[in-house]
Amino acid sequence: MTLPICDDCSKRTILCPNCQRLYDAGQITPLDIEVSRLIAKSVDCPVDVKGAVKTQDQVIIIASQDHVGKVIGESGRSIRAMSEALGMKTKVVGASDFEKIARAMIAPARVRSINKVVGPKGNSIRIRIEKSDISRMRMSPEDLSTVISAACDEPVSMSFD
Ligand SMILES: [Zn+2]
Repeated sequence: MTLPICDDCSKRTILCPNCQRLYDAGQITPLDIEVSRLIAKSVDCPVDVKGAVKTQDQVIIIASQDHVGKVIGESGRSIRAMSEALGMKTKVVGASDFEKIARAMIAPARVRSINKVVGPKGNSIRIRIEKSDISRMRMSPEDLSTVISAACDEPVSMSFD
């Protein structure tokens, strides 16, 4: 398993010093921990999951692209169990579906465009959001860029126009 917390921590209720440090540094969230433990309980094969984010009406689990089906489980068994435990509609997206992840997190604010920018120093993601919708965002643009960037492993820049 590759989860936001280590294997030991995914099977018990306390955090080891290492995971605790990541938590204190804000690199893993309470939701990451909750989802990691649910995955350890509900998914019966090793999976690579990067984290989870909560949007307006659902929890999105971000898995590496080729593990999406494994996290969902046979006939959706694992994802149903996790959705019940979380008390929210839950879905799994592949980490390379950065556009889907970003749109879900930005809603109900409207997205003008999301582009992958290929530059000399590597790729980045540029997100343009409708200026009049700033007040409709549920997270600060800074937090949002941090989370999207962690999910996608690429720097994110956000603008409002
Ligand atoms: Zn740990």
